[in-house]
Amino acid sequence: MTRRCREWLDRLSLYLDGELSEALCRELERHLAECPDCHVVFNTTRRTIELYRRYGRPAMPEEARARLFRILHLDDLRDLRVDL
Ligand SMILES: [Zn+2]
Repeated sequence: MTRRCREWLDRLSLYLDGELSEALCRELERHLAECPDCHVVFNTTRRTIELYRRYGRPAMPEEARARLFRILHLDDLRDLRVDL
């Protein structure tokens, strides 16, 4: 990851919020097309934001939740629907 990458990553949220100028958007898109590192970060961030917007707080699958509570020895609390 180069210094240039870091500069773009700093602007990533602006871009995703649609607050980056048209010219900078084009430039960022060009960078993403040729930089696999930024491409991955960008896609992951965008997906996370999309899921968050669509579903609100990320829900934990019931099975993972049960496992977590077991590991933490919190089985008794499981039915309290503690917000994780
Ligand atoms: Zn990059």
